[in-house]
Amino acid sequence: MRIVILGPAGSGKGTQGTLISKKLNIPLISIGDLVRRETKKHSTLAQKVAWYSVQGLLVPDEIIIKLLVKRLKATDCKNGFILDGFPRNLNQAIELDKLIEIDKVILIKIDNKTALSRIQGRFVCSNCGLTLSNDKNTDLKCISCGGTMIKRKDDLNENAIKTRLNIYENNIEPIISHYKNKGILFEVSGEKSKTEVFEQISQVVTE
Ligand code: AMP
Repeated sequence: MRIVILGPAGSGKGTQGTLISKKLNIPLISIGDLVRRETKKHSTLAQKVAWYSVQGLLVPDEIIIKLLVKRLKATDCKNGFILDGFPRNLNQAIELDKLIEIDKVILIKIDNKTALSRIQGRFVCSNCGLTLSNDKNTDLKCISCGGTMIKRKDDLNENAIKTRLNIYENNIEPIISHYKNKGILFEVSGEKSKTEVFEQISQVVTE
């Protein structure tokens, strides 16, 4: 099954994507992770990608689509995949249609206030990428691999957080209409607990 997960930063796309990935035994493709990996390289492209992502701006479509095309060619995607962080504008949705057929699109809905407080409280494992919330804002050890939990650069910058949420708000409606018209959009409430959100999503992907 080929699944797209939509939702603002902080809606739990990565967390839920990981759970569905385990349930269906298909890879989770996080475009944000592909972007962060790219920024660690020593190249002009890496610098360009970092310039956009640190500010919370969208990396230009042609760069993102190249990263995605390369990832989709990997053999682990042959039985399906879960896309987290793509499409982020209507053009990307149209380009994705040209690349491959998507079966289901899950939209995780949360309000801006919840998104903001979740992003401000989240830590990511520098080793395995696990995301956890911690209101105390102190460094901690990853419960999965023991690695160090750190803040993402774009989560440390309040302007970058607001930019990401604004870009989402400004771009999401045409994407929703695009998938509604195809009859493959399913909405779930992201305001509930991790388990409850997963129950809603499990129902969508197994029906
Ligand atoms: P995320 O981890 O999904 O919050 O993504 C982190 C950053 O990567 C975003 O703020 C963008 O700069 C970049 N990014 C991720 N996905 C896309 C996309 N589909 N199009 C453009 N830029 C993206």
